[in-house]
Amino acid sequence: MQVVYSPGHARHRPQLYFKEGSFHEHPESPARAEAIAAALGKAGHPIQPPEDYGPAPRAAVHTPAYLQFLESAHARWRQAGFGSAEVVPNIHPGRHMAGLPSGLVGQVGYFAADLSSPIGAESWPAACAGADVALHATRLVLDGADAAYALCRPPGHHAFADSAGGFCFLNNLAIAAQFALGRVRRVATLDVDVHHGNGTQGIFYARSEVLTVSLHCDPDDFYPFFAGYAHERGEGPGRGANANFPLPRGTGDNAYLDALERALGLLRAAAPEVLFVSLGLDGYEGDPFKGFRITTAGFGRIARAIGELGLPTVLVQEGGYNVEDLGKNVDSFLKGFEAARGA
Ligand SMILES: [Zn+2]
Repeated sequence: MQVVYSPGHARHRPQLYFKEGSFHEHPESPARAEAIAAALGKAGHPIQPPEDYGPAPRAAVHTPAYLQFLESAHARWRQAGFGSAEVVPNIHPGRHMAGLPSGLVGQVGYFAADLSSPIGAESWPAACAGADVALHATRLVLDGADAAYALCRPPGHHAFADSAGGFCFLNNLAIAAQFALGRVRRVATLDVDVHHGNGTQGIFYARSEVLTVSLHCDPDDFYPFFAGYAHERGEGPGRGANANFPLPRGTGDNAYLDALERALGLLRAAAPEVLFVSLGLDGYEGDPFKGFRITTAGFGRIARAIGELGLPTVLVQEGGYNVEDLGKNVDSFLKGFEAARGA
């Protein structure tokens, strides 16, 4: 499997993480990607750096105001003389307010869905490097590779066109899928992260040429809470092009594979030209988020089922927070995928 990786991700080192009433060490650490890269190198997967794809692919998905905010927020925060090393919101527009103010504190709340995505001094270039990783893996596939794995960090699937959240800033997978639509007519996304891919769903919700499918822990009592329900099917021209499979907390390999088979049926019927997989490993039985109980071998079985679709596939790294076991879980996934392709 061709692996695309940029060490530039390490410039983003989030510190502040507020959960259930108290502060914790931030789980989205550079060590995650470093552990995966080390394991994949050891397993013999060739690793290459991305090229610089410039601002246009990011601007094809995210709004100008949001991109400008992400790029400038930390410098503005410093100039304002605020005491913290990271930009963190302390207010959000509620359900009955939606104005975009010009002041910094209001803008931070407007463009961030929650407190989990603090912006550090170098978060912006790190996020851009992550998007370039997904873009480069996509170009490899568009140029004829059977599949490629984008070792993206920070993750992206909770980022909407105009908001950060859930450790995500730029939606790497959406940027890559939109880029592919310059060369092909129909694509699909399959999100196997334990959390619903709310940003990806939101970005493509009214688009008929992008089928978005997500399997995840039931949001009724799990992040992102406010989206990921089965009744969300898309809107306008995209009606019917979004499918959610919320599954109970504690779901293990066999029940997950049953649901996956139903999801794969939708992908077979849609016959996209390229498949983009949001590859989260946080459904792992040893993950601190404790959503599902997928085993290391289970990731291999999941990958094999996805690989058997036979579609050109871009695998985009999302979540997964058991740093010690991340490398072996990604390796199990890639081996399962390659087994399906006879590679
Ligand atoms: Zn996740």
